[in-house]
Amino acid sequence: MRSSMKRLAVVPVLLASGCIGTNFNLATQRQEYTITSTDKEVEAGRKLAAQVERELTLVTDEPVQERVRRIGQRLAAVCDRRELVYSFAVVKDDEVNAFSLPGGYVFVNEGLVKLAANDDELAAVLAHEIGHVTARHAVKRFESQLGAQLIQLASLAAARQGPAPQSVGVATQSMQLAYARQDELEADRLAVTYTTAAGFDSKAMLAFLDRMQEKDRTRSHYMPGRVVRPYYAMTHPFVPERRLAVKEALFGVADYLDYLNSPD
Ligand SMILES: [Zn+2]
Repeated sequence: MRSSMKRLAVVPVLLASGCIGTNFNLATQRQEYTITSTDKEVEAGRKLAAQVERELTLVTDEPVQERVRRIGQRLAAVCDRRELVYSFAVVKDDEVNAFSLPGGYVFVNEGLVKLAANDDELAAVLAHEIGHVTARHAVKRFESQLGAQLIQLASLAAARQGPAPQSVGVATQSMQLAYARQDELEADRLAVTYTTAAGFDSKAMLAFLDRMQEKDRTRSHYMPGRVVRPYYAMTHPFVPERRLAVKEALFGVADYLDYLNSPD
């Protein structure tokens, strides 16, 4: 997982060729500039997915894979980028986590499948990951990372006499673990739309966020120097704000207590 995350740094190179254009993104409802065509995005996603599948072990229990595929495809059928071919796979890992790659490749850990109380909660998580794909969050992040890498190259060249600036590499690596706050909230709002359209109980996202937060409270704390595998709360922070965004998407307004509990 860590090494595959590290290798995601290769993606900007895969995505780089192409010219700048604009397209209207149905998910974000915005006109967006991009240097990445859908073909390029799918090609990069396919290569990364193959790498992930080489490095991680997939669950061999076919009914488990089938359940996640069935829920995922119901959501994919109603999402904003139906031209993509989505794939869903369960990774043999007890950590509660899920992630998506550009082009529609969604992975969910066995630990998360077990934590979800029912199909509706699982659908909420899968719809959130689909939301990252439809809003093209990863592509946008990689495109902006291209700029970051140019800065990194420039700083490496400037520091050629001195020691290599390790901190720059670590920063870009940790940037790859979590999407920005706005992206998370957008993926949650899209998850509410997609779960509703596919006939799932879209309130299940709130129940799952609570369950995940409870699990996080009981997990052993991070020890410096210890290898920590990415888990959901690490790749998906901002839980209080996410609850607020989900409630607003569900009910039009969040209640007073939510505002009290949310930062700023
Ligand atoms: Zn997310």
